[in-house]
Amino acid sequence: MENAHEHYQVIIIGGGIQGCATAEACARAGLSTLLIEKNTWGWATSSRSSKLIHGGLRYLQTAQFRLVRECLGERDWMLANLPDLVERNWFYIPIYRTSHYRRWQIRAGLMLYYLLSGFQSIGRFRSVPRSEWSSLSGISQQGLQAVFAYQDAQTDDLELTRRFQQQAASHGARCLDHTELSRAVRHNGRFDVSLQSGDETSRMTADILVNAAGPWVNQVLRRVEPAPEPVAVDLVQGAHIVIDEQVSQECFYLEAPQDHRAVFVLPWHGKTLIGTTETAFDGEPENCVPLPSEITYLLDTVTHYFPDRAFNIVEQWAGLRVLPRSHQRAFVRSREVMISDSAGVLSIYGGKLTACRVTAATVCRRVQSHLGL
Ligand SMILES: Cc1cc2nc3c(=O)[nH]c(=O)nc-3n(C[C@H](O)[C@H](O)[C@H](O)COP(=O)(O)OP(=O)(O)OC[C@H]3O[C@@H](n4cnc5c(N)ncnc54)[C@H](O)[C@@H]3O)c2cc1C
Repeated sequence: MENAHEHYQVIIIGGGIQGCATAEACARAGLSTLLIEKNTWGWATSSRSSKLIHGGLRYLQTAQFRLVRECLGERDWMLANLPDLVERNWFYIPIYRTSHYRRWQIRAGLMLYYLLSGFQSIGRFRSVPRSEWSSLSGISQQGLQAVFAYQDAQTDDLELTRRFQQQAASHGARCLDHTELSRAVRHNGRFDVSLQSGDETSRMTADILVNAAGPWVNQVLRRVEPAPEPVAVDLVQGAHIVIDEQVSQECFYLEAPQDHRAVFVLPWHGKTLIGTTETAFDGEPENCVPLPSEITYLLDTVTHYFPDRAFNIVEQWAGLRVLPRSHQRAFVRSREVMISDSAGVLSIYGGKLTACRVTAATVCRRVQSHLGL
């Protein structure tokens, strides 16, 4: 890095979807912006999601209507503006005699989803006639009582993250990967920031820091002086497996027989992506890998619904959700983003890939207001 002590209005730490989208929003707003990522763009949580651009039908169960409406609006924007990265697809929900949710409850949920989409055509759903059930990729017919089909969207999360990073750069943000924030000290209203890139250390100054470090969010705060107030969060792991054949060109939204959680079976580059799980995590985020029990859970679920298929796992990974600390089950906890503002640092906790532009716009407005703009 040539220029030591360069000054930026905002330095954004973390090159996942939240950091990249925020850098894009800040650079587009004309702020001098530096985005840093300690590894490669999107390598962490932002390439380990279920890759859905969706409102989150299941969040209706926990009455997160605002989040669902916001995400459905973003889904429409992405379908219209990023057609090479975001594609709509059909999702089938089979309902069995043993299912936790009854037919009328799923119908009511889909009606509400349609309503929250603003009655867009994509929000229309249908009840799949019995005559079509046997052609649904070999899904178990035993005890099957109804099948609903609705539409949502899929993406490539890593490519989406890279797109926001490229857009940020094209609007003038300086973007440095393999660059880690090692320390930031605030005096006279400015941050003195030390960055580490391989063996090289460099120093920059900034008016404000945005901490978009995902599961490392509170670790980053410990590198800042005076230390900003952290938000109490839990890290909850979600695993995915990829199997070598494509079960279907469409998606399945299944209820895990073990605990009635939602598990998706999704076409993914000619193979099938299956996920996800919710497992409490208290290690180093770098070391997050699927547990044998999670693999068994996912395989048991998919085998339960597709009993005549053999599933060979060719890939597996796990990512970390950042959720508000609570004794409640992860499944029922809020998926809304939390933005904390303490000692000149705006920290982004959690949130959704789908809502990244809305989060970025909110953070950018807060940055502008800090700068008195
Ligand atoms: C299992 C799972 C499934 C999900 N599925 C969906 C879905 O289908 N749809 C959806 O909309 N959302 C989904 N989400 C949510 C979504 O994936 C996340 O909200 C989003 O990816 C979080 O992005 P992020 O930028 O906050 O974090 P990350 O992508 O983890 O990025 C944080 C970055 O900060 C960097 N960093 C950390 N410390 C430093 C430092 N000191 N200096 C420099 N860089 C640093 C890290 O290297 C990392 O790249 C899912 C999440 C999980 C866990």
